[in-house]
Amino acid sequence: MIKLTKRQDEILQIVKQNGPITGKEIAEKLSLTRAALRPDLAILTMSGNLDARPRVGYYFNDNFEVKQQAKKFIHQKVNDYKAHPIVVEKSTSVYDAIVQLFLEDVGTLYAVDSEGLLAGVISRKDLLRASLGNKNLNDLPVSVIMTRMPNIITIEPEETLLEAAKKMIHNHIDSLPVVKVEDQLKNTYLLVGRITKTTITRAYLEIMEEKTD
Ligand code: ADP
Repeated sequence: MIKLTKRQDEILQIVKQNGPITGKEIAEKLSLTRAALRPDLAILTMSGNLDARPRVGYYFNDNFEVKQQAKKFIHQKVNDYKAHPIVVEKSTSVYDAIVQLFLEDVGTLYAVDSEGLLAGVISRKDLLRASLGNKNLNDLPVSVIMTRMPNIITIEPEETLLEAAKKMIHNHIDSLPVVKVEDQLKNTYLLVGRITKTTITRAYLEIMEEKTD
């Protein structure tokens, strides 16, 4: 994204508020000559900030701003948006996991082993399925019902939110554990966070509502 000069910014504001507006009118508002403005107007139209129509004048390109914002969104890193993972021990009962899910107000829990390494994912549906026709939820450990390694789809802190969104949509899942890989061959991953569909929606809102002016 090119950095605009103070004058180019002023021109943008004038066009935003008054467009379509001719070069002559912009020049008058800035107490400059038409010739002095020409290079700035050329830059602003070439970069896509402004559009120009013969005999109509310059007008502000709304799409340009939206596209710039969307580009920003694509490059955001998982690390800057990840939330705390809510974890349980593999030996936790399904009953306690359900309680935990409500207490923490999340949709997914992560199971870890005694060294804090990711062992499994327990989602709402996993818990509902386990509860159907199963009377003794206190005696059933989550390790029996969870999705476990090597079937867990993970994401690393340096990957982008776009990558996270793709993984969730393509795999029909609501969240991803953010991990630091200890040993890929042994499937040992240190759990450092979580990304959910809500994370993506929130990031999208934040970026799109960010003022560019
Ligand atoms: P919900 O159960 O609330 O619909 P999901 O759509 O995330 O939540 O989960 C659907 C299934 O996918 C569950 O069986 C869950 O264990 C599994 N799952 C969830 N997240 C992951 C993940 N990151 N990797 C692999 N499987 C997952």
